Order: sequence, then C-alpha cells, then structure tokens
Amino acid sequence: MEKAGLEEVQVRGKKVLVRVDFNVPMNDNQQITNDTRIKSALPTIRHLMAQGAKTILVSHLGRPKGKVNPKYSLAPVAVRLGELLGKEVYMAKDCIGSQVEADIDRLADGGVLLLENVRFYEEEEKNNPEFAAKLAALADVYVNDAFGTAHRAHASTEGVCKYLPSYAGFLMKKEIDVMGQALENPDRPFTAIIGGAKVSDKISVIENLLTKVDILIIGGGMANTFLKAQGLEMGKSLVEEDKIELAGNIIQKSKSSGVELLLPVDVVVSKEFKADSPSQVVNVSSIKADDLALDIGPQSAALFAEKIISSQTVIWNGPMGVFEMDQFSKGTEKIAQAMAQCQGTTIVGGGDSVAAVEKMGVATNLTHISTGGGASLEFLEGKVLPGVAALRDK
Ligand code: ADP
Ligand code: MG
Repeated sequence: MEKAGLEEVQVRGKKVLVRVDFNVPMNDNQQITNDTRIKSALPTIRHLMAQGAKTILVSHLGRPKGKVNPKYSLAPVAVRLGELLGKEVYMAKDCIGSQVEADIDRLADGGVLLLENVRFYEEEEKNNPEFAAKLAALADVYVNDAFGTAHRAHASTEGVCKYLPSYAGFLMKKEIDVMGQALENPDRPFTAIIGGAKVSDKISVIENLLTKVDILIIGGGMANTFLKAQGLEMGKSLVEEDKIELAGNIIQKSKSSGVELLLPVDVVVSKEFKADSPSQVVNVSSIKADDLALDIGPQSAALFAEKIISSQTVIWNGPMGVFEMDQFSKGTEKIAQAMAQCQGTTIVGGGDSVAAVEKMGVATNLTHISTGGGASLEFLEGKVLPGVAALRDK
C-alpha cells in the first residue's frame, strides 16, 4: 500500500514533528565524522522551511539506554545542520515537557528546532503510550523520515502516529517506493545479488527474493556454504556447517521455481586471513584443504556482471569478498561497476554494501542506496516495518 507523502499536507504555520535519523558517527571529542545522515534529511527539512512550517526534529543518537548522558547529546548535530541549512537551528534541552513547548512557541514560521536525544528516556524504546502522547502534544502533524529505525516500534517511530496525522518524509518515501516497486512490480529481468559473510544473516531475504526474482546470484562468504552443499571442498573457508542442508534446499527450490541461480565458478584463495598474505585465483573445484576463499574470482565477477548489466531491476546486498582488504575487494568492485553500468533500476542495501559502493565511487550512478541497514534487510525479507505501517495510506 502506497503511503501518503509530505506533499499531501498543508504545513504553513503548523508545528511539524519530524522523526529523522541523526544517529551520526562521532569521535571522542563529539565531532561528527560523517554527516551523510544529516544531509539525507535536508530535502524534507528544506521543504518544511520553505512552506513556512515550524519544524521540530526528533532523533536518537547512540545507545544512552534510557538515561541522560551528555556524551550522546545531539547538540553538535544542531550546529552542523545549521551550517548545511545556512540558518540557525535551535537546540532544545529535552525532547518533551514545558521548556520544549516554550522553545516551540518562540519558533518563527520556517524555523527549525532540534529536540534532545529521544533515547534519554527509556519510554522511547518501550514504545510507552504516555510518552508517545507527550511527543505528539508538541505538534500538529508528524512526518517520519527515519527509514533506518522504521523496523523498530518505538514511541517516536510508531507510538506517536496514534495521536497525529502521519506522513512519510521525502527520504522515507523514496526508500519505500523504490524498494516496494522492485518487490511488488519489478521491470524484468529482475536480479538479486546477495553476498556478505553468512547465510544465517540472510536466509529470510534469500527465501523472500526467491519468490520474486528471475536470477539469484550468491557470492561472498555465504557462497561457500552453497558450494559445500554441492559437494565441493572449501578448505578453511568460512562455511556454516549447520546451514549446508538449507543451502541445498535453496538450490533445489530455485530449480523447481525456475529461478536461475548463479554461484561463483572461481575464487581468490589465500592461506591466511590477512591483507598481505599471498593469494591466487583458483577454480571452485580446486580449493585445497588449507585454503581460505576470500573473494569471488574474475570469471565469476564477469559472469555476474553480465547478468547485472542486462537486467532491468537489480537489488544488491552483501559484498562479494573481504572488500576491507584491497586484494580481496576486486569482486565487489566489479559488481559495483556493473551496477553503475546497468540502465535499469539499481538498489543497494546493507551497511557494508553501501560502504563498499561509496568507497568505489559509483554511488551517484545507482537508482537508490538504502540508508537503513537492518531496516532494508527486513524490508527485503518482506516484513511489514512498524514505522511504515503506522503512516497514513495514500
Ligand atoms: P551488509 O552489511 O552489506 O549486509 P554483511 O554484513 O552481510 O553485509 O557482510 C559483510 C562482511 O562480509 C564484510 O565484513 C566482509 O569482509 C565479509 N565477507 C565477505 N566475503 C567473505 C568471505 N569470503 N570470507 C569471510 N568474510 C567475508
Ligand atoms: Mg554488515
């Protein structure tokens, strides 16, 4: 079901409570080391400012575990956001209560106030209804632009929607529309490429995608378990022994449902899990007992790339190898380039996968880079995200 977006609500002069994801990384001196998440929220904030709303931003930062802790104050974010907007962003001392209400009363139309860390209250993660009502009491309208926390039913993501008309912000809307379209009504051929360390992390994603895609590509560490299920020697490679049977079942299921399943045909092996340990490319049938498979090989990468480039929709989650080490990053790099070359809809989700495409400099050539690690995985699993479900239908 399509969700109602920001453009469907009149906000002039209204108090608008916006859930954003300002959970940015900071160093020990509370300096922001990456402001991508702040920048991602700018379209929604700028829209509200231009429309003359009083914008009240609410977010969590880190894990203060329900207690006030200055280390997790959002104050540095207010400063950075003010720089990006070219306009002062006021910082509240709390996220509920009379002092915050007074701050909001002082806010001019078009003004922006950032509330203090909502996780300073344990009621937030408990989705306490009274706490949600107090948050809601601050505003006339609620907007959720924090896709990254939409898989959690917290007071500021779900509970608050019971008390206010609730809309999807621009970032949220793009996330759910692009990924929703791919899962519900994709242009075909539709290819999913799944990698990363473990099968166990992504069983539900694989099982859901298997019912939707034309081509399923499996690479990265998890491919080892599939190769082992086909009877191949995997040496000292990462293999989940207790998932071999499951991998075999998935191979069977792909056959019976007519999904083309591709596994690596060659891999980069090394004797040690080390950045400078000598490595070589071998066929998957020639892996030795003391080998570790740490990346897909060039033949596999070329095979996968060809499928990706000729697809109309591609979803990618999980690196093809230990991309953190240069000599095992080539497979992931080749896939990132193929994604950039593909003319269809290209979507990347998952924390490490997003880091990989950013590192490889192809991010701007993709249709969509999901901002939510856990949330995008749950979305791809076909789960209903509580923070999305609570928003108004279009
Ligand atoms: P994402 O965060 O994109 O969902 P994952 O967390 O599932 O991805 O997987 C990323 C991790 O998988 C990376 O740290 C990478 O080093 C590791 N990985 C990929 N291939 C292998 C492999 N062949 N052996 C061991 N680890 C691997
Ligand atoms: Mg990860």
